[in-house]
Amino acid sequence: MKNISIWKDQTKINNNNNVLTKGLETEILIIGCGISGLSTGLELLENNKKFIMVEKKQCGMGITANSTGKLTFAQGSIYDKITKTYNFSTAFKYYQSQKDAMKKAYNNIKRYNIDCDYEIVPSYIFTDKDNEIEKIKKEEIFYKKAKINYKKVTSLPNNYPIKYGLKFDNTAIFNPLKYTQGIKKIIEQSKNKIFENTTVHEVKKMENKYKVITDRGVIYAKKVIVTTHYPFFIKPVFIPFKTYIEKSYVLASKLKSPKISAITLSKPTISQRNYKDDYFIFASNSHSTSNHYNFSKQFNELMIKYSNSFLGDIKYIWSTHDIMTNDSIPYIGKINKEEIYIATGFNKWGMTNGILSGKIISDSILHKHNCYNSIFSLKRKFSLIRVLNLVKNDFKTFTTLILTKLVKNHKFYNHAKVVNINGENIGIYYHNGKEYRVKNTCPHMKCSLIFNEFEKTWDCPCHGSRFDIRGNVISGPSTYNIKLDKK
Ligand SMILES: Cc1cc2nc3c(=O)[nH]c(=O)nc-3n(C[C@H](O)[C@H](O)[C@H](O)COP(=O)(O)OP(=O)(O)OC[C@H]3O[C@@H](n4cnc5c(N)ncnc54)[C@H](O)[C@@H]3O)c2cc1C
Repeated sequence: MKNISIWKDQTKINNNNNVLTKGLETEILIIGCGISGLSTGLELLENNKKFIMVEKKQCGMGITANSTGKLTFAQGSIYDKITKTYNFSTAFKYYQSQKDAMKKAYNNIKRYNIDCDYEIVPSYIFTDKDNEIEKIKKEEIFYKKAKINYKKVTSLPNNYPIKYGLKFDNTAIFNPLKYTQGIKKIIEQSKNKIFENTTVHEVKKMENKYKVITDRGVIYAKKVIVTTHYPFFIKPVFIPFKTYIEKSYVLASKLKSPKISAITLSKPTISQRNYKDDYFIFASNSHSTSNHYNFSKQFNELMIKYSNSFLGDIKYIWSTHDIMTNDSIPYIGKINKEEIYIATGFNKWGMTNGILSGKIISDSILHKHNCYNSIFSLKRKFSLIRVLNLVKNDFKTFTTLILTKLVKNHKFYNHAKVVNINGENIGIYYHNGKEYRVKNTCPHMKCSLIFNEFEKTWDCPCHGSRFDIRGNVISGPSTYNIKLDKK
């Protein structure tokens, strides 16, 4: 069993050797080459716009390479939530945006001949609990009113025990890393450059352009697109206060599975899909990063849930996280009075929303009207439900920050501890008689880090940054490592 996503293990990655060696000037700079950044690059390319892209690691290897790779509009209980927070017409517009993104993915795959194991499969939303049937019925109200075709079901094709569900045809699944590698290749064949292994640390506003400071030099740009999953700067849209992070656990087993893309409505969700004919992907135990710190326990529960219903050997197991908004709608668009554009808060539906953000952001740059601008706008109005969720989630993050400062060593740490040396908290991981020491403070907003015994990483419970045992940042918002200064 490998501690890595199935996509990362089974996809050939083409490294690019472009190295940013001197200060560059560009009209448009895209920071972050996951599905959102690459989709934006592709849209700009198709409209003959020139741009530069920079990527901290390798394209597509961020959160995109950890997803379950479903392309579907059937996203749990999202339409009921959006209807309650706003109204039916906003929920319907969101549905249309997801359908458009699914169509765009299909068209890109066909037009550019991208080999990404794309398969049309039915999507199911379901519950395995009697007391949640009502919840599905509420979601059903939206589909009925919107005149969307669906079938009621009481079983799944893989015989997973369910109480009630809805089935939708013509949705899809793919290998998200192969898809992003395909888009990267198209961009690289154009005159536009992608610089991998280049981390942006700061975006400074100058008179009529931005000075973007990377670890390999400075880039000047008139417009900056931040598609780094988590926008790494706090101001000016206060993303840390408007969002929270949900962590989930995923496994892929060697199991012949019928074609399926299924998800429950309840928390923790259960998500399932096949990968080609011989793998089955199963995810569960999602929780806010501020709720649970014992990650090994979550992994064990995931494996037990899987083994209770399925037989195939587990080949891959990994954890991942996504940014959740307080109204279930992502933030995509231009920051007021700036020439900075962001796409974040995909609520675990970033395949469709990442592709969609490419269209919304490029339309904005090209001064084209986009009918989805207002619902994804960074300036959208606060509803009462949104304010209540915001207060609840911010309170949770704040108490987490305090709690992690008070409780340093958790009971479940078998091979790690946090010690205070000369006023600084140091995280130590012990392995084979060796000590691996790092700073125990997240450079992003100074939360203390929790040791993830299962994956051997230091994870931030506040905003999701992750670091390896040597202190290298694996995923942001932190753009800095936590290595100890050499004295
Ligand atoms: C368990 C789970 C399952 C999911 N399954 C699905 C699914 O089936 N379908 C679906 O639609 N969505 C799914 N999602 C959501 C989806 O995975 C994410 O929303 C999506 O991948 C985010 O894409 P992105 O491009 O914004 O981020 P990323 O893929 O993380 O891309 C951001 C890139 O920016 C780079 N970067 C970061 N900081 C810097 C910096 N300072 N300088 C330069 N580069 C930087 C990173 O290295 C990275 O490559 C799932 C999420 C979870 C948690």
